[in-house]
Amino acid sequence: MQEMLGIKNPIGRSTIGHVTKPEVDISHGPILYLEDISVSFDGFKALNGLCLTVDAGELRCIIGPNGAGKTTMMDVITGKTKPDSGTVFFGQSIDLSRMNEPQIASVGIGRKFQKPTVFENHTVFENLELAMKYDKSVLKNLFSKRKQSQIQKITETMEIIDLVDQADRLAGLLSHGQKQWLEIGMLLMQEPQLLLLDEPVAGMTDDETEKTAKLFKSLAGDRSLVVVEHDMEFVAEIASTVTVLHEGSVLAEGCMEDVHSNERVIEVYLGR
Ligand code: ADP
Ligand code: MG
Repeated sequence: MQEMLGIKNPIGRSTIGHVTKPEVDISHGPILYLEDISVSFDGFKALNGLCLTVDAGELRCIIGPNGAGKTTMMDVITGKTKPDSGTVFFGQSIDLSRMNEPQIASVGIGRKFQKPTVFENHTVFENLELAMKYDKSVLKNLFSKRKQSQIQKITETMEIIDLVDQADRLAGLLSHGQKQWLEIGMLLMQEPQLLLLDEPVAGMTDDETEKTAKLFKSLAGDRSLVVVEHDMEFVAEIASTVTVLHEGSVLAEGCMEDVHSNERVIEVYLGR
């Protein structure tokens, strides 16, 4: 949409025709850099000199007590909240702090909020179709049949989220877990390189949580995931590196075992 309005994207490449996603430079390893980020709300520091680096292909878990700044961190990455200071980079060269929310989404960052927001009166298939990336060929063929490649892409996505047998079901009739997976599928239709997921297994049954763990592990590698979650069993199952936030900055970071035995983490979050 931005190119139709003649807006030049902040990395200097104007896009012609359908959306062209800039290459994310991950040649140094990391796909996300947050450096010295601070955010204040009426003088209260929700983020306080936060530094975080996530490698391409990583599945990073973020934990920490309520009010630690986890959601605010995601708001900063996605452009919903502008930091008072600090830098946010997507790969080596894309400065997210100079972009607005739609621009950040268009460079390949997808976010899932806690509450599923699917179109309840549309089928699973239609939800995925609606989420498909804008493509001028869709406009050109507005009144023609769906393209075979589009159907194939939707089918592949339904396979990933294990909803093939629910394709024609109204989204409103799905279980809570299935709705969450559908929304993840809708994000995947946009082909994001980085996925941010805020408390994805809250309200899920044990079986659904277990399936979500498998799904996330399969998504990582080709993409990078940053997952905020309180369910420690789930975190232990999926994370290689866990970051603990507390009062707006990093309290501890490392493998689950190290974080779990860290005295400060036990004190402020895990309890004795
Ligand atoms: P978490 O997700 O780790 O529970 P949040 O990032 O939601 O924490 O919140 C961090 C702190 O910032 C909390 O004390 C919260 O009350 C405050 N906060 C978050 N968003 C706002 C806002 N828009 N206005 C005022 N205070 C906010
Ligand atoms: Mg939160």
